[in-house]
Amino acid sequence: MCKEERIGAKRICRKCLTADMNEKEYFANLHAYIANLAADIKADQEIYEKRLAVCKQCDLLADAMCRACGCFVELRAAIGKNSCPYDKWKAQTKRGI
Ligand code: SF4
Repeated sequence: MCKEERIGAKRICRKCLTADMNEKEYFANLHAYIANLAADIKADQEIYEKRLAVCKQCDLLADAMCRACGCFVELRAAIGKNSCPYDKWKAQTKRGI
């Protein structure tokens, strides 16, 4: 059973697994989480899009997840310091990917 709480205006789900969640709502929450990442940890939009373009061509992408690391690639790519486990894209530096 889903245990929801409110923190301010934000509704969050505690102790839920994806199997317990409504898939549409789960992905909406994931996208909202990415959109609301703090600016100091977030990858630049151009870099984010380049990273995802690489993932979309990768044989390890399945159901939005990387089979090498188990991450949702959109979440992994959204954080500047992250990198591809197969070095197909690198941690963000001031000059790009
Ligand atoms: S993070 Fe790297 S290994 Fe994983 S899907 Fe993207 S390009 Fe492929």
